[in-house]
Amino acid sequence: MQAIVDFIRELYKTQEFIPLHEPKFIGNEKKYLNECIDSTFVSSVGVFVNRFEEEFAKYIGSKYAVAVVNGTAALHISLLLADVQEEDEVLTQPLTFIATCNAISYCGAKPIFVDVDLDTLGMSPKSLESFLEKNCEIQNHQCINKATKNIIRACVPMHTFGHPCKIDAIQKICEKWHIVLVEDAAESLGSFYKDKHTGTFGKLGAFSFNGNKIITSGGGGVIVTDDEHLAKKAKHLTTTAKLPHPYEYTHDMIGYNYRMPNLNAALLVAQMEKLEQFLASKRKLTEEYANFFAQFDDIEFIREPKEAHSNYWLQAVMLQNNEEREAFLQYLNKHNVMTRPIWRLMSELEMFADCQKTDLSNAEYLQERVVNLPSSVRV
Ligand SMILES: *Cc1c(COP(=O)(O)O)cnc(C)c1O
Repeated sequence: MQAIVDFIRELYKTQEFIPLHEPKFIGNEKKYLNECIDSTFVSSVGVFVNRFEEEFAKYIGSKYAVAVVNGTAALHISLLLADVQEEDEVLTQPLTFIATCNAISYCGAKPIFVDVDLDTLGMSPKSLESFLEKNCEIQNHQCINKATKNIIRACVPMHTFGHPCKIDAIQKICEKWHIVLVEDAAESLGSFYKDKHTGTFGKLGAFSFNGNKIITSGGGGVIVTDDEHLAKKAKHLTTTAKLPHPYEYTHDMIGYNYRMPNLNAALLVAQMEKLEQFLASKRKLTEEYANFFAQFDDIEFIREPKEAHSNYWLQAVMLQNNEEREAFLQYLNKHNVMTRPIWRLMSELEMFADCQKTDLSNAEYLQERVVNLPSSVRV
């Protein structure tokens, strides 16, 4: 195990603490922040917000992008735009960050947990389809859960660590069952499935720019869609639903104050300029890790799935079992090399313990074995 610590120290050329993922500010961040401060437009309107939205939409190939305060807010609004209401149910995967399930809960809806695939770490289209066939029927163009009589309104797969899940197959299933596809693409900026950017398969997609993501605005998120009506509604809902007027304050519904401040957008525009460089650095890191771990029979370095191009946001290995995972985590963390286990399954958390779920063998298998390695960009 010391060989692993030594190798990672060599990768990062330091004897100090090595974090899991730290941001890098090596471009125009300070320049744009100064411009933003000098303009006095530091808050909810300003040129950087518009510039970011345009550049982001262009990069991922969606028609519209609406910047918001964080990825959780992006998911929340996306689900509201998918018409998720109280008592509705939303399909998702148990292997995800809590934000996915929190956003579903903010709408008053309940998650249903569908197993993941071992090769993508994301939602399994097979498990999804078999759940729907066994438990649901279509009535009036809506998917009804026969057990609860509730509407299954949306499906939220997540691209784990930046590895795209089988999103085209999931898209087809959702279409057939009249379920709105909302992608949690929080971790997958720069990841493509069959040459199409993640987040653009669903009716709506949500990204995060939290401090630990591939690029950051301190805190931030964005909603993407090709639907002009939804994009307008997203902007309206996230800006307190204020009607445009030179001086009157009139609001036509209960909206949210979810707009990304211009200061954060200034930082983000500078970060976007470095995205290609960050992606290249991560890919190089992947090759070095993969070559190194090839010598261990009992440690599998996790590669991108077939037909996918991953951003390799977080590098990961799969260990033999829970004991080996524990030993690995203890040794590396004790030696100041930060490693972290994959999330505890959402279906095992108290708040979601009574939610419906499929057989979750794959998610349970991964929970016991997957560990993230230091993944910061090296520049
Ligand atoms: C980071 C993340 C989010 C959003 O997180 P915020 O901190 O609210 O920006 C949502 N889903 C997943 C899977 C994430 O990793």
